[in-house]
Amino acid sequence: MKTLPSITFGVGDRFGLEGEAQLKAVMAARKIGLDAVPVWNKSFREHSLVGSSPADTRREADAAVAALGWKEPYFVDADHIRLGNVDAFVEASDFFTIDVADFIGSPVDKGACEDFAARHADLAGSLAIEGLDAPIAITRDLLVAAAGKYLVAVREAAKVYRRILELRGTDDFATEISMDETSSPQTPAELLAILAAVADEGVPIQTIAPKFSGEFHKGVDYVGSPALFGEEFDADVAVARFAAKRFSLPANLKLSVHSGSDKFAIYPYIAKSIKRHGTGVHVKTAGTTWLEEVAGLAASGGDGLAVAKRICLEALPKIDALVAPYAAVLSIDRSRLPGADEIASWDSATFVGKLVHDEASPLYSPDFRQFVHVSYSVAAALGAVFTDAVKANRETVAAFVTRNIFERHLRLLA
Ligand SMILES: [Zn+2]
Repeated sequence: MKTLPSITFGVGDRFGLEGEAQLKAVMAARKIGLDAVPVWNKSFREHSLVGSSPADTRREADAAVAALGWKEPYFVDADHIRLGNVDAFVEASDFFTIDVADFIGSPVDKGACEDFAARHADLAGSLAIEGLDAPIAITRDLLVAAAGKYLVAVREAAKVYRRILELRGTDDFATEISMDETSSPQTPAELLAILAAVADEGVPIQTIAPKFSGEFHKGVDYVGSPALFGEEFDADVAVARFAAKRFSLPANLKLSVHSGSDKFAIYPYIAKSIKRHGTGVHVKTAGTTWLEEVAGLAASGGDGLAVAKRICLEALPKIDALVAPYAAVLSIDRSRLPGADEIASWDSATFVGKLVHDEASPLYSPDFRQFVHVSYSVAAALGAVFTDAVKANRETVAAFVTRNIFERHLRLLA
């Protein structure tokens, strides 16, 4: 097992050009006392849409680390992989986010559920968990029901884990199981049952991404009650710590928060909770860096602004296809999107004001921001037109990327 440090921060980089700018943000966080390390994450979907490969992400991470003389650990995350696509990630990655959300609720034989409940009969009753105000009530029926809902998913995760182990020939990697891309949140009691099942399968997970209450839409703030999220997160942290000891899972087992881009409202609750429990957290972001690239281009004026506009203008007629893969995690009000003529008329300040996530700004449009979030495949199709523009405006773009990750995300966790 390759051990994850306490605070790991996932950054995604669609086009692989911002590795140094992202690492600079993590370095700035360490200067203010947040001992974060970077994880460069990229999913199969992102690789497919931009035509990159896991080896590209590895090269980018290694190059940024070498250029800036980073001496701490860092990771390359095969994000949201499953049995059907894990193989291509095995060589270049040392962090695997095994996504088994689609297997939640898959039918399992009743005998297996009964066996699970019998094996963990000692959990039943009123379970006092250190750090929780009230004990959790666990019944045999709850254990049977949780097994019925999650056993197939956990077994699937174990299959993927063993596949990685087989191909790598060694366990020098970190494993996460994600169940976030599903409709209903898991309760702390369910999380406990899931972790028991994970331990039964012998998967040494260091992070688990449950589905939390509220909406985690792409590129915009958390929708829901941040205080309720805080309570739920805090209970899950306590359960994860308890489970690590009780089931002999890795002692550094921690929660993973996906779609962490721009969820500013919940970061203070995460920070408070992990300090209170003396534990770590993994936060995953991705799209926010791409949005900063577009903002940086727009701010650069001239050709940069022209390319930023071109992406939007080419994306507008394709909006149905662009939003389709992300439909569950978007809330775009199309009636509030700017038209082509309006976008074409914007100066740098207007474009940046519309796009940059600043709730206090009268210009800010969450609808436009989410629209740009899903438009990165248009930039990919533009190829060198886009990447050359980013390179030509290197300093401005990088400053946007670094500032966003450090000032707006990492600083809130410190
Ligand atoms: Zn996720």
